Amino acid sequence: MDTYDYLVLGGGSIGMAIAFKLASKLKNSKIAIIDYHIGSAASSAAGAMLGCFGEVTRYTFSDQAHRDKFDLMYAAHNAWPDWIKELEHISGEKIWHNPGTNIILNTQGGQLDEENFEAIISALKQYNEPFQEISPKNIEGLDAASFAKPLRAIRIEEGAVDSNQYLKVLQTACEKKNIQFINRKVDKIVKNNDLFTIKGNFDDIVSKNIILATGAFSNELLKNSNLGVDIMPIFSGVGFAMVTETKGSAFKHTTRVANRSGSCGLHIIPYGNDREYIGATNVIHTTPQHQMIPGMNIFLSHCAIEQLKGDIFWSNIKEYKVGNRPLSLDTFPLIGKTSLNGFFVATGTYRDGFHCSPIIAQDIANEIMGEKKIISDVFKPERKPIQTFTQEESIEDYALQSLSGAYEFWLKLPGIVSEKDMLNMYRQKAKDIYQQLQTDKTLNTDILFCLSMPTLPKNAMTELKNYLRK
Ligand SMILES: Cc1cc2nc3c(=O)[nH]c(=O)nc-3n(C[C@H](O)[C@H](O)[C@H](O)COP(=O)(O)OP(=O)(O)OC[C@H]3O[C@@H](n4cnc5c(N)ncnc54)[C@H](O)[C@@H]3O)c2cc1C
Repeated sequence: MDTYDYLVLGGGSIGMAIAFKLASKLKNSKIAIIDYHIGSAASSAAGAMLGCFGEVTRYTFSDQAHRDKFDLMYAAHNAWPDWIKELEHISGEKIWHNPGTNIILNTQGGQLDEENFEAIISALKQYNEPFQEISPKNIEGLDAASFAKPLRAIRIEEGAVDSNQYLKVLQTACEKKNIQFINRKVDKIVKNNDLFTIKGNFDDIVSKNIILATGAFSNELLKNSNLGVDIMPIFSGVGFAMVTETKGSAFKHTTRVANRSGSCGLHIIPYGNDREYIGATNVIHTTPQHQMIPGMNIFLSHCAIEQLKGDIFWSNIKEYKVGNRPLSLDTFPLIGKTSLNGFFVATGTYRDGFHCSPIIAQDIANEIMGEKKIISDVFKPERKPIQTFTQEESIEDYALQSLSGAYEFWLKLPGIVSEKDMLNMYRQKAKDIYQQLQTDKTLNTDILFCLSMPTLPKNAMTELKNYLRK
């Protein structure tokens, strides 16, 4: 039976970063990562944008929990340059990094796009971050259809890495720190006295400390393990993306729209060597999904061809990516120790966990060492869901976001149906969900999207209703 001091379950961008930071502090400890390389992990499907200001929306500073979340993103924004240097130094390998992002405002996303675009500019000013308002005509590579022409654009300094190349370097850096990689699927975690036993189709593995970083796959593992920790449901923000061969003029910088109707904002990352990453959709499910579906393929391709570059129509697709973003019920991260001694959680990072990973890792390592925490306690894993809206506000937001999404999905209203009618229809949909759940708790728009999907499993409403009653 193998025994470790620290076992990290999950070897995505977060699990590996945690193991690396721990190994840097605990030189004589035995540390391992268990991961079975599921094809639909979030980290390998991400681009990945190191998005801090680009992720700002009209809600980013609207309440304390959102402000605490931004503090985490901002700390990561400042940490990345040294983090890249450190990983390069330890691994002896270069990390591909493309600095600079163009953010465009076009006509395709409805009224919320404009509000989010303005919110980004206002945050950049508030934090004295350098940026330039530029003419969309000067964005190299951008060639949108005439009906989707960008109206405004800014250039900011944050950029992107190539997720898969970065993950390889991170793995090498971990190996150089003597972290062991165990390629197995964990079925269950059992706690006996002071030790955790990891069970699966292999000999038991034992450790005093467990860090759960299994992303959107954590729900199943927690349910099977029955550890008595009270962690809210974790959903899957399923995203599709593709890597294509560059056709036509090449983009020089990452180019994106603001976050839009539950999605991370259409974006393109020029990987170099004639490869472009185009992402990403976001449809919320109660369980992880593993396959590309035609509807999302068409949607992403259409958006990219119309809003970014017509020549994408002719691009060879080198790779499709499907990934599951870990989304907690209240949509905020779940980070830190639990009531079970030695059991830590680092997930629920949703759309920007790749970017936040160096700080999440540092925070978990600090907490284990009894050092100062960086991330707010508000995000401790066993909390009750954070409430940032009233139900009325959430119904209104759901209606607006749905309409905005429908416009991006080519909605054209006939004269006899007005926007007001559409908004009323969406409001009613959200009200029906609340009525079915019989709850006075508020749900985030993204969760309401999930609950209004035709693909929702039959028992999902009942399970959520029972959870909300607790
Ligand atoms: C399409 C897409 C685009 C995105 N773009 C960005 C972006 O540009 N910038 C950004 O910051 N974020 C982005 N994100 C979000 C980001 O990817 C996630 O927030 C983050 O990567 C989550 O990392 P993780 O390590 O927690 O999860 P994951 O990467 O999902 O890793 C979890 C790991 O756990 C392993 N695992 C799970 N269950 C078990 C088990 N039972 N036994 C063993 N191993 C197990 C899996 O194999 C997996 O490797 C994007 C996500 C998607 C899907």
